[in-house]
Amino acid sequence: MRHRIIVLGAGYTGAFAAGRLARRLRREDVAITLVNADPDFVERVRMHQLAVGQDLKSRPFSGMFAGTGVELKLAKVTGVDVGRKTVAVAGANGAEELAYDTLVYALGSGWDAQGVPGTAEHAFEIAGRPGALRLRERLARVDAGQTVVVVGGGLTGLEAATEIAETRPDLDVALAARGGLGDWLSPKGREHLRRVVGRLGITVYENAAVAGVEADHVATADGTAIPAAVTVWTAGFAVHPIAKATALEVTGAGQIVVDGTMRSVSHPDVYAVGDAAMVMGPGGKPLRMSCASGVPTAWQAADAIAARLTGGKLPNVPIRYFNQCVSLGRKEGLIQYVTADDRAVRAVLTGRLAAVYKELVCKGAAWGVANPMFGMPTRRRRVTRERAAAGSAVAASA
Ligand SMILES: Cc1cc2nc3c(=O)[nH]c(=O)nc-3n(C[C@H](O)[C@H](O)[C@H](O)COP(=O)(O)OP(=O)(O)OC[C@H]3O[C@@H](n4cnc5c(N)ncnc54)[C@H](O)[C@@H]3O)c2cc1C
Repeated sequence: MRHRIIVLGAGYTGAFAAGRLARRLRREDVAITLVNADPDFVERVRMHQLAVGQDLKSRPFSGMFAGTGVELKLAKVTGVDVGRKTVAVAGANGAEELAYDTLVYALGSGWDAQGVPGTAEHAFEIAGRPGALRLRERLARVDAGQTVVVVGGGLTGLEAATEIAETRPDLDVALAARGGLGDWLSPKGREHLRRVVGRLGITVYENAAVAGVEADHVATADGTAIPAAVTVWTAGFAVHPIAKATALEVTGAGQIVVDGTMRSVSHPDVYAVGDAAMVMGPGGKPLRMSCASGVPTAWQAADAIAARLTGGKLPNVPIRYFNQCVSLGRKEGLIQYVTADDRAVRAVLTGRLAAVYKELVCKGAAWGVANPMFGMPTRRRRVTRERAAAGSAVAASA
């Protein structure tokens, strides 16, 4: 019987993990199933572009995984039972249960309203495609001169505010940041950001913690009301509640706690990658939710699973950061180089070159997903019955 590996979620990390597993393991030995709700790959890092009316390339999974040995299952995951080692899904065939020997959990994240009153009713978000399309439709109807307030001064907020301001110079775009504008960047990075934001006419509210969202304004904790015909909420991501409802060890926020091989610390036959995992990075700091660190977690998990099943050497590649790539509209960008643990160093790349660099990074990530078998050396060692069984025995005793 083949060892059954189920990968939940075909975002950046799930798709990379499935492709790499297919490359590493023999088809006669493993059955790899990739479960995803959507039939096509969603480039989450471009949701601000989708929201302002740009059309993104369609990337159907059917073509990507054809011939790889990965079976794609289009269904919504509704639950995971780590005791029985099953996944509950709902798809075209109705409700089903899938059994696994090894599970890779990569369901990503959505927006985080942080319990701020009025966000659910009045705010728009761009953490995923449905939200970005809702905002797109709304922005198309906003009259010139009206105000769009982007809440959140992190990377997503900067990208959203600049993209909206560049596309719609007829609108008043404002950005509400909890701290100072780009206060984690190097002096050069901050200076460049201020210049671009100023050029685009974006009003910045610094040290503005938004405490409420109404239909026509947002209210900050110090009582300031910022008029807003449209409020775009970008203040962080929250993981889906599925993992928290299982017996897996999770953080308070619901991320699955894993070791350096991305294996759950409570259930060794479960691996978690990307936004869904709590991974300790360099300097003992948890990795932030990002493609930049999420994709390496997928590689690490796939290599660890393959190594454990075939008796190979376990990967021990430290996951680190190199740079933060920020688009500031289509014509401008900022590449902030960072230390291994994500702290800004002096060097930055700015301007048009930075915009091109960022575009290449986005294209490269999508290309990697779309070509799961490309470039990697094939190391198809056999899965032995004993090793597969040993994995299950460890899991059963956990
Ligand atoms: C606008 C924006 C810009 C960003 N820019 C950057 C950037 O420049 N650099 C960077 O490093 N990061 C960036 N990020 C963050 C990055 O997109 C995420 O960290 C990354 O997508 C996480 O990858 P993932 O595979 O863990 O999750 P996702 O990409 O979210 O993938 C999860 C997958 O699981 C599927 N799924 C979810 N729930 C279910 C379910 N119940 N059943 C079945 N399938 C399900 C989803 O449809 C999706 O395919 C950005 C995010 C946004 C929103």
